[in-house]
Amino acid sequence: MNVLVLGAGQLARMMALAVKPLNIEIRAYDVGSKQVLNPLAPEQVFGNLTDGIQYADAITAEFEHVAHDVLALCEASGKLKPTSQAIKIGGDRRLEKQLLEQCQADNAKHVIVKDKESFDEALNQLSLPIIFKSALEGYDGKGQWRLKFESQTSQTWLELNEFLKSNAKQGIVAEQMVPFQREVSLVGMRGHNGEIKVYPLTENHHTDGVLSVSLALDNEQKIQQQATEVFTRLTNKIDYVGTLAIEFFQVGDKLLVNEIAPRVHNSGHWTQQGADTCQFANHIRAVCGLPLGNTELIRPTAMINILGEDTIPNQMLSMPGVAVHWYGKSKRPGRKMGHINVSGDSQEQLNQRLSTIADILPDAAFADINAYIKGKC
Ligand code: AMP
Repeated sequence: MNVLVLGAGQLARMMALAVKPLNIEIRAYDVGSKQVLNPLAPEQVFGNLTDGIQYADAITAEFEHVAHDVLALCEASGKLKPTSQAIKIGGDRRLEKQLLEQCQADNAKHVIVKDKESFDEALNQLSLPIIFKSALEGYDGKGQWRLKFESQTSQTWLELNEFLKSNAKQGIVAEQMVPFQREVSLVGMRGHNGEIKVYPLTENHHTDGVLSVSLALDNEQKIQQQATEVFTRLTNKIDYVGTLAIEFFQVGDKLLVNEIAPRVHNSGHWTQQGADTCQFANHIRAVCGLPLGNTELIRPTAMINILGEDTIPNQMLSMPGVAVHWYGKSKRPGRKMGHINVSGDSQEQLNQRLSTIADILPDAAFADINAYIKGKC
């Protein structure tokens, strides 16, 4: 089978690597150059979008910010999975909140801000601190304003108004800041026949607003069940097909949805070593109408992102339970360049290995990650 992925970054590349053994070929549409290429050899140009649509048995996306005309063309072919509507929900916080309300999925109290009147309404309905998030094109903590003190109100409105005026399609979601204990996420998939499988939740740590460490959680039955129920309600509601991630804030033993990503997700990269079938293979299986693979945790596993670096100490390659994944990208500060999956036969062994890694990774680039790991292990 042949699959066209909209987006030609590391997620398309990892899908291609994961399904090669199933004789499934992936081509990727680069939204920048508007060309279709081989994600494992990006210099090999395959053709334009029309060629890619023709080639594909199924079409899917690796990210939610795909131009709507591209989505419409793909949908018209009858091959796009999930639907363009599902992809758009992930790219517009207003639609996302609407879906959460429809599914009665707990989330932070919020107000949609379009103008001064709705800004004042947000101040009335919510208490400080409030986080304002751009409805479109916001990711990794970008496009956000935090209002902590009343004295910042007029300056915040000035900035929001400027932002709203810059793009007529934009909007802002004002959200109550939640005093959460930790951030967790659930990655799972829904097959073409409605079959649902989810991986164990992961605990996520961020560095400068970007995910930097994910730890697969075992034995957290209560929140795992809560998260699975939300996943089931959301994906059934939109007849979703493929992998989807839900990010949550944990407050006590309650989960509040923060964001939905209608795609494979960075917090699911650990599944390459910690599960029989990884999120990338399962996503392609789902969109191709194939049975989903096992999503159970087969050994304790964690993932560390390599941000802004194109080398790590060579000795990591000889360490047991360590798998390094590079994305073949050129170096830029803070850029997701690769990740390291670390596994152990037991949680204790995984912790020992993570501790050793935190001693080896240079503090110049990994200080925050090393400090987090040392606090955990
Ligand atoms: P987001 O882009 O929505 O994931 O937000 C980026 C980060 O801001 C999150 O990972 C949280 O750490 C923080 N954040 C976002 N929304 C809230 C909220 N309602 N309450 C507290 N922290 C938040």
